[in-house]
Amino acid sequence: MSASQTIQPGHDSYDVIVVGAGFAGMYMLHRLRGLGFSVRVYEQGGGVGGTWYWNRYPGARCDVESMQYSYSFSDELQQEWDWSERYAPQPEILKYANHVADRFNLRTDIQFNTRVDRARFDEAENLWSVATSDSRAVTARFVVLATGCLSNARMPDIKGLTSFKGPVYHTGNWPSEPVDFTGLRVGLIGTGSSGIQSTPFIAEQAKHLTVFQRTANFSIPARNAKLTDEERRAFRKKYPEVRRFAREEARNGIYTELPDRGALDDGANERRSKYEARWQQGGLTFMSVYNDLALNKAANDTAADFVRGKIAEIVDDAKTVALLQPRSHPIGTKRICIDTDYFATFNRDNVTLVDIKSNPIEEILPNGLRTTVGAYEFDALVLATGFDAMTGSVAKIDISGRNGVALNQKWAEGPKTYLGLMSAGFPNLFIITGPGSPSVLSNMIVSIEQHVDWIADCLNRMRARGLHVIEAERGAEERWVAHVNEVAYGTLYPQANSWYMGANIPGKPRIFMPYIGGVGVYRRICNEIAAKGYEGFVLTAVERKRAAAVS
Ligand SMILES: Cc1cc2nc3c(=O)[nH]c(=O)nc-3n(C[C@H](O)[C@H](O)[C@H](O)COP(=O)(O)OP(=O)(O)OC[C@H]3O[C@@H](n4cnc5c(N)ncnc54)[C@H](O)[C@@H]3O)c2cc1C
Repeated sequence: MSASQTIQPGHDSYDVIVVGAGFAGMYMLHRLRGLGFSVRVYEQGGGVGGTWYWNRYPGARCDVESMQYSYSFSDELQQEWDWSERYAPQPEILKYANHVADRFNLRTDIQFNTRVDRARFDEAENLWSVATSDSRAVTARFVVLATGCLSNARMPDIKGLTSFKGPVYHTGNWPSEPVDFTGLRVGLIGTGSSGIQSTPFIAEQAKHLTVFQRTANFSIPARNAKLTDEERRAFRKKYPEVRRFAREEARNGIYTELPDRGALDDGANERRSKYEARWQQGGLTFMSVYNDLALNKAANDTAADFVRGKIAEIVDDAKTVALLQPRSHPIGTKRICIDTDYFATFNRDNVTLVDIKSNPIEEILPNGLRTTVGAYEFDALVLATGFDAMTGSVAKIDISGRNGVALNQKWAEGPKTYLGLMSAGFPNLFIITGPGSPSVLSNMIVSIEQHVDWIADCLNRMRARGLHVIEAERGAEERWVAHVNEVAYGTLYPQANSWYMGANIPGKPRIFMPYIGGVGVYRRICNEIAAKGYEGFVLTAVERKRAAAVS
């Protein structure tokens, strides 16, 4: 679009509609507005922050260190914002999101409490028609789905759930007013990251906490601590290198040493002391001790055994130890959890662990639940049952592209995208951190910024060249999907029944959704494709109705 071709803002037409006002939608708005596009953001929640707006459960905090789990696009912002702790708690991350919204004056273009329900591509006009929950119909040349990978909280399908008499809380949709469990018996279902983070906090308050575990998970101590002024200053000084490394070299978007040897290259004593050092250091970089932990089962076993040993050291009761030791998947093939005192919490007298793998839940009762072997009573129920990850929020929108084909229909056997950015047959529809991109395998703010910058540059270049429509080619998409699978199946990841595979949702196709090739590699691929005139995409000018390449 040239400036004169830009759809005029105002009534119900925009250059770009962005769905979602988490970190992705906020930065997308900032970039596009800076380029002079008219943008409208719709957010179903009442404020910015996405994940950090919804996940207010006790103990919620990031698992990538805050100095890195933060925007890098503005040096002033990263120099002025003071993170209080190594891993900021949810209220502080939400405060940061609000600060960003204020500092960059984003709210004027965000409509809150408004859900996007439907988006249809009008082939005659080459425009998207979007219907929102406030019964408005708006049009836009482009739609960007910034709907989040972990934003569709999954209610478990358990018989009798609605019959429970007490309050029921989902960690992914926690009330904004404080919840007090003092004096209550609490049942908690789910031991993924949210369950692991909230268990110690709920145990502190509750009269009794019963944790229902289907799958034991690996968790590494966070070693969370207050940050001193000196630590913040030192980190800020090295920001240029930290951010460059996270973008270009890291596999997961996190600044850390890159290991140069495999686990079996060291003897048992040396290996143990390296694992011990990382355990003491705490955090996600535990998996970066060696370069083959995601590739070689024998190497992986050494790390998994080390963590299982730690659980046995921490937890007193032998039966509980056996239940808490993960054995069903290689370490790291489900997103590794980062905790504060999770395992030690099971030494408390007021905490019980119940195995629902061997003895599944049969029914929720008005005052508790029944498994195949017994009944448990509680006054409040916490569901830490995760999300319909990566595709769940996209699937909730009724999206139809060329020839009226629904995106849900096209993705019925698993999501198909080119680079995780676009899906063939759905012109001018972008997805931020979509399936087929590194997304949830990375420090997501790094991946979000990369996608936003790529999309913004693409629209800017299209406008400069008088082009209006961009669409992924089917062949390019097929090759990318095959590549994503090939890379995944070269690792141990598909061995876990994880939400990366859609395995937590009954009936969801088992496809490894994120791109595991690494954040740096992926960025280079995306940049090269853009530099080659958006290879694998077809770009068209509406008036001339012919394909043209951007160079
Ligand atoms: C508890 C928790 C902890 C996490 N910790 C980390 C971490 O430490 N490091 C890390 O890298 N990642 C972490 N993540 C992942 C986290 O989701 C991302 O880091 C990041 O916040 C995603 O931002 P986003 O804008 O892409 O999506 P989100 O933050 O999920 O925002 C998407 C927004 O879109 C809105 N939306 C969705 N559908 C619609 C619709 N149809 N209409 C209108 N609005 C809609 C949602 O309401 C939501 O506000 C964590 C996730 C969770 C759940």
